[in-house]
Amino acid sequence: MIEGQCLCGGVKYCYHAEIEKTIICYCKHCQMAQGSIFGWNSPLQKSKFEITQGIKFLKEYFHSPHKARVFCQKCGSPIYSYRLDLPDIIRLRLGTVTQGHVSAPPEQAYVQYKPDFLHIDE
Ligand SMILES: [Zn+2]
Ligand SMILES: [Zn+2]
Repeated sequence: MIEGQCLCGGVKYCYHAEIEKTIICYCKHCQMAQGSIFGWNSPLQKSKFEITQGIKFLKEYFHSPHKARVFCQKCGSPIYSYRLDLPDIIRLRLGTVTQGHVSAPPEQAYVQYKPDFLHIDE
């Protein structure tokens, strides 16, 4: 089982399954949304994902019409995103995981936006 939370601890969640696939994405939207070098995400089954605390703190932002980015409005931590056309899947922001195993990413996207100083084994 996977557990996690936002920075302030107001929002807590658990995922009643294992994380199977993780993705690092260097696209400019991920960089801006995370305020960092990349987004580190995993597609999860929404039916097995549970907000266990602080659902009232969650706020959604639609940067594009079909994709919501869900974050804690108290501390700003990005928690997950989802697409209206893929209602069974959420994409968890893996920096928020506190318990459970998160595997290394087999996949990196938009590496052309990766800063030169960052070296990751391909
Ligand atoms: Zn928070
Ligand atoms: Zn991206």
